[in-house]
Amino acid sequence: MRIGIGVDFHRLTHGRRLILGGVDIPFERGLLGHSDADVLTHAICDALLGAAGMGDIGVHFPDTDPAYKDISSLVLLSHTVKMVHDKGYQTVNVDATVIAQEPKLAPHFPAMRDRLAQRMNVPADAVNVKATTSEGLGHTGAGDGIAAWAVALLRPVKP
Ligand code: MG
Repeated sequence: MRIGIGVDFHRLTHGRRLILGGVDIPFERGLLGHSDADVLTHAICDALLGAAGMGDIGVHFPDTDPAYKDISSLVLLSHTVKMVHDKGYQTVNVDATVIAQEPKLAPHFPAMRDRLAQRMNVPADAVNVKATTSEGLGHTGAGDGIAAWAVALLRPVKP
């Protein structure tokens, strides 16, 4: 078994959609980034890559590459899962926390789980998504951005 951690932050800005865990969430601002800036999915990709000992998302999907401009991060997750699988690992489970002052994310957790699990080729109960505010503290508390943390557990692919 191998464990990995992923952490990501993106700035909130007007004129962008807010996409978390592949789900389009109604909000007056969205996350800024080269891709769709899905901070939750990025943290999960980093956790998977970390567990496999394969570096991080920036190495595999550089934000200088026009191929990844505005791309759905679910596509990056699919690529990540394939690379990790080619290295000989499959996902046991993923747990993640989004840190956001607003909006309320709980109503979207089931859709996020379904979408992420589908891309990871695991049952929905192998993916847990939760959220917290930072009680008004720091950049996430001020609503300047959203952060996400994730851990992933991998096991060797059965021969
Ligand atoms: Mg990111």
